[in-house]
Amino acid sequence: MSVARTAVLHATGGPEAIAWEDRPLPAPGPGEVLLRHHAIGVNYIDIYHRSGLYPLSLPSGLGSEGAGVIEAVGEGVEHVAPGDRVAYAGGPLGAYAEARVMPAAPLVKLPDAISFEEAAAVMLKGLTVHYLFRRTVPIRPGDTVLFLPAAGGTGLIACQWARSEGIRLIGAAGGAAKCALAREHGAAETIDMRTQDLAAEARRLTGGRGVDVVMDGVGRDSFIASLDALRPLGTMISFGNASGKVEPFDIGLLAAKGSLMLTRPTLFTHIADPAVLRRMAAELFEKVISGAIRPRIDQRRPLAEAAAAHRALEARATTGATVLLP
Ligand code: NDP
Repeated sequence: MSVARTAVLHATGGPEAIAWEDRPLPAPGPGEVLLRHHAIGVNYIDIYHRSGLYPLSLPSGLGSEGAGVIEAVGEGVEHVAPGDRVAYAGGPLGAYAEARVMPAAPLVKLPDAISFEEAAAVMLKGLTVHYLFRRTVPIRPGDTVLFLPAAGGTGLIACQWARSEGIRLIGAAGGAAKCALAREHGAAETIDMRTQDLAAEARRLTGGRGVDVVMDGVGRDSFIASLDALRPLGTMISFGNASGKVEPFDIGLLAAKGSLMLTRPTLFTHIADPAVLRRMAAELFEKVISGAIRPRIDQRRPLAEAAAAHRALEARATTGATVLLP
């Protein structure tokens, strides 16, 4: 039996809480595969897990996104086989590893045209963008969406998705350079969250009306301003908490601000059914293969530098996706 370098959390905390162990790789059991990673995606949710914001039972693996090659399959696994190139988002935590034994259900086959690095940059973030635009509230060409943060891993995919569907995306990001990057990737307009008032600027850009939908992954710091950016009867999709969890609030606020709708979704509900996951992945891959979405990787690091990758993400010092290489 071989071993694989694997990140383990024995306690939650700062980036230094990520410990490394050589874990044995047993033969895959029923419904499982042995997967050797070629690229691993870093996501903000990894920080919520590591810090304890999203509770875990310890000890725990870390990481929810990877791409690689199947080395062995257990009994009953039919949709993938040894030698297949695959990628996944979700399943048990543990993507920060050279190789792992995991359930086969979250795996999808990777088209030859998509590299492992691209897959690790686009699976979790791109499926998120897919459900935000296609499965949460009806959004039609010409509708205006305010998206934040617009220049990160998820954000730059959202900008490209909106452009490819004729949706007007106003991207909000921290600083002029990040705003320029969002526009390069398809944001029609941008709002600099460091220097501009989010709600006032969104209203100005929509002739005073407000946007149809807000997709807010910043959380605590922007929640009220995002509500204030909406038109009457608009929808707030609060999908993340990079700045911390949204504080409890009086739901009467939604009436006072114009009969607003509010939802707090997670990708993992949307991809719980493997048949739906495969359909969503096929639609996402089509956008990548056609060139409508070019996964942008601005940080590549050896797997052993996962803690440094977390520090950079938390310091708002990254753009696009971060990928770890085993
Ligand atoms: P990003 O690459 O977007 O990095 C996070 C960005 O958040 C930073 O670069 C920064 O951009 C912004 N930010 C704003 N305030 C803070 C703060 N106080 N501390 C740190 N960062 C801050 O990360 P991801 O693409 O991985 O994730 C983006 C968001 O999407 C996260 O909230 C994540 O949880 C959410 N998400 C939700 C999913 C779901 O299904 N619910 C699935 C996937 C992602 P700037 O400098 O421009 O402000």
